[in-house]
Amino acid sequence: MAVMPALFLSGCKEGGLVSTKDEVSIGQDAARQIEAKYPVNRDLALNRMISRMGEDLVTVCDRKDIDYKFKILDIKEVNAVSLPGGWVYVYKGLIDAMEGDKDALAGVIGHEIGHVCARHSAKMMEKETIAGIAIEVLAKGNAKQWANVFANLEMLRYSREDEYEADRLGLRYTFRSKKYDPRGLIRFFRKLEQMEKSKPSQLEAMLRTHPLNTQRIQRAESYLASLRAGG
Ligand SMILES: [Zn+2]
Repeated sequence: MAVMPALFLSGCKEGGLVSTKDEVSIGQDAARQIEAKYPVNRDLALNRMISRMGEDLVTVCDRKDIDYKFKILDIKEVNAVSLPGGWVYVYKGLIDAMEGDKDALAGVIGHEIGHVCARHSAKMMEKETIAGIAIEVLAKGNAKQWANVFANLEMLRYSREDEYEADRLGLRYTFRSKKYDPRGLIRFFRKLEQMEKSKPSQLEAMLRTHPLNTQRIQRAESYLASLRAGG
């Protein structure tokens, strides 16, 4: 493992090498790059709806030390991503594919908020391991290079365990909010299964970053049952 760059050591707190301040500044840089590269949806009503859902879930989430930002990218693919520091991007293709199922959308947004709450990107930086990213980029590591890593949406991915954890948190937050049906996330998975057969090209990025399998759905089902049982 390469030596951790000084930037990350400087912000050490709460047991993590990457401070919230570092997360926010890296996320901000990546967000600027993403918004320069991809079209941002300006439909006021749609943006309001997504932000409202995000805020409803942030109210009941486990991490409130950052400002969450919810935006829509005008990309036809079915996908959603989150950056360190609280940026959440939902692709327009995902919104369209859910055909008005707001609970499914809320489930996906809850999943993305879950990645932020569990500091998955910060942990990724701490571990200096990102699948598919050349090791020399990481070894030199600095804030700018990390921002470039997170801005590269096609490459960005978390571990399978992180994905399961984000699923659990998404279910937990929709459940806690009492405003959304937590089964929405499971309906989203079912929808992906259907689309995998009918429109696989729109799912490439989503399935690369969020591998869908029976186990993932079963885990979500049993976690939801335990939530409902008060566990
Ligand atoms: Zn995820």
